[in-house]
Amino acid sequence: EKFNIAIDGPAGAGKSTIARLVANTLGFVYVDTGAMYRAATWCMLQAGISPEQESEVIALVRDLDIRLVLGSDGQQVLVNGKDVTAEIRSALVNSHVSQLARIPEVRHVLTDKQKLLAVNKGVVMDGRDIGSHVLPHAEVKIFLTASARVRAERRFKETEGRPGVTVEQLEQEITTRDRMDEQRETAPLIQAADAVRLDTTHLTIPLVVERILELCRT
Ligand code: C5P
Repeated sequence: EKFNIAIDGPAGAGKSTIARLVANTLGFVYVDTGAMYRAATWCMLQAGISPEQESEVIALVRDLDIRLVLGSDGQQVLVNGKDVTAEIRSALVNSHVSQLARIPEVRHVLTDKQKLLAVNKGVVMDGRDIGSHVLPHAEVKIFLTASARVRAERRFKETEGRPGVTVEQLEQEITTRDRMDEQRETAPLIQAADAVRLDTTHLTIPLVVERILELCRT
C-alpha cells in the first residue's frame, strides 16, 4: 500500500538524511524540494540576476528544467542537463536561497512540479511547506527539529571541506535562513496542525527513522 510522507523543519534538522533512509526502507521515492530552490538559486547567480529582480527571477525559474535523478552515488540534481549537485551546496547559494524562495510565483512554479512528483504516491518529500501546502493530504506528516546549536554542529561535520568556517558562523547562517523562511508571507516554514513533532537534539538517526516507520504502521 503506497502513501505519501511529508517531512518539514528548519535547516540542518536532519530532514534529508532521515527522509532518504525512510524512503529506502519503504522502497519509496525521495524528493528533496530544497534542492529545487537551490538549483534555481544557482541558475539565478550564474545569470547575474539578484533576488530583488523578481520578474527576471520568475522568467528564469519558469524556463528551468530541474531534475532529481538517482545516481550511483546518491541523488543528483540536474538543471537543463547540467549536474549541479555539488554547486548547489555552496555558501553563496546558502546565503541567497531564502530570498529567491520568498517570491510567490517562484514557489508556485516549484510547488506545481513537486505536486506532480507525488501524484502516484510512494513519495517521501522534505522541505519547509510540504505538510502545510504542497501535500496537505499526505498520510504521514513529520516536523523535525533540533536545537540551533546541534544543527550547526551537524552541518559543521558535513562541511569539513569548507576551510575557515566555524560552528558559530554556521549557527548564524542557519538561524538567519530559518528566520527568513519563518517570516515570509507565502507558505512560511510552519508545523502543520496534524504533523508529529520530533525533536532530534538527543535522538540518533536510527531512532528517528524507527519512530517514523512506526507512525507509518499505525
Ligand atoms: O532544505 P534546504 O536547506 O536545502 O532548503 C534550502 C532553502 O530552500 C530553504 O532555506 C528555504 O528557503 C527554501 N525551501 C523552501 N521550501 C521548501 C524547501 C526549501 O522555501 N519546500
